[in-house]
Amino acid sequence: MITFLSGGTGTPKLLRGMRELLDEREIAVVVNTAEDMWLSGNHLSPDIDTVMYLFAGILDTGKWWGIRDDTYITHDLVARLGIDEFIAVGDQDRAVHVARGEMLRRGMRLTEATKALCRSLAARATVLPMTDSPVTTYVCTQKGEIHFQEYWVKHRGDVPIDGVVRRSSEPPVATDEVIRAIEASDAVVIGPSNPVTSISPILECAGVKEALRRQCVIAVSPFIGDAPVSGPAAALMRAFGKEASSAGTLSLYEEFVDVFIQDIRDPVAVEGALRLDTLMVNRGKSLDLAKNILTLIYGC
Ligand code: GDP
Repeated sequence: MITFLSGGTGTPKLLRGMRELLDEREIAVVVNTAEDMWLSGNHLSPDIDTVMYLFAGILDTGKWWGIRDDTYITHDLVARLGIDEFIAVGDQDRAVHVARGEMLRRGMRLTEATKALCRSLAARATVLPMTDSPVTTYVCTQKGEIHFQEYWVKHRGDVPIDGVVRRSSEPPVATDEVIRAIEASDAVVIGPSNPVTSISPILECAGVKEALRRQCVIAVSPFIGDAPVSGPAAALMRAFGKEASSAGTLSLYEEFVDVFIQDIRDPVAVEGALRLDTLMVNRGKSLDLAKNILTLIYGC
């Protein structure tokens, strides 16, 4: 088994390749939940949904979120009724959020709710929320702290930020399922997800770093030069006090990483890093990178 640490875009692109090469039951994905939020009474878990939909074969891989060919009838009517949902949630996607909200209100752990949803959607990989207790990433702006989703989805990242904070009523602890998956794996792969908003929240869950130190860990950089392949990672890295680059990314992982992979195009020299083509612009490129990583792990 291989365990992946994932957000909602970079690592899922790698998982797109992995699921063609591995039995999905041999894949566990520990997923960031620090972007979760309640919207119109329903529970959004954007990164869990992306990973779950990928394995269910229904992900919209044009956007890397939501369900392919979804409709927006409810979202449009809700807007006409005067409710400003700043995230355009599709109708089928919303059904998942309704179901998860209901499960959580009935007292299910997020881990159990995710398992039930995966079963219903026929996603066979093991999708594991990093923790069962709520934790949220906020960014610091001149007008105060705002939820990361508000920063990125509502304001399109077009707001100066000078800090990143995680808020939770209790310190987040990795679930037993997460630790067991890491321990039972042949290797752990940290995909090219946002180091600040996707991977660091997982690393901050008590127990994860210790488990990673005992494992073979391979990490893939989401940066080429001083820019990420997509998204707001550069501004977030700087607000997090880190250099926006592969070197800055490695500085967050170096206490446990065994192999660090940088793109062949990356002008930033990182000593000891392995160079591969990490630009997963299509299914074939995802497959190639997945093959290269499996060769590293299994030497075949
Ligand atoms: P989010 O939850 O939607 O923010 O998604 P992730 O955190 O999983 O992934 C976002 C990161 O993926 C960004 O920092 C991108 O630079 C990175 N990314 C997206 N596509 C690729 C790719 O093809 N190759 C690499 N190396 N990084 C990518």
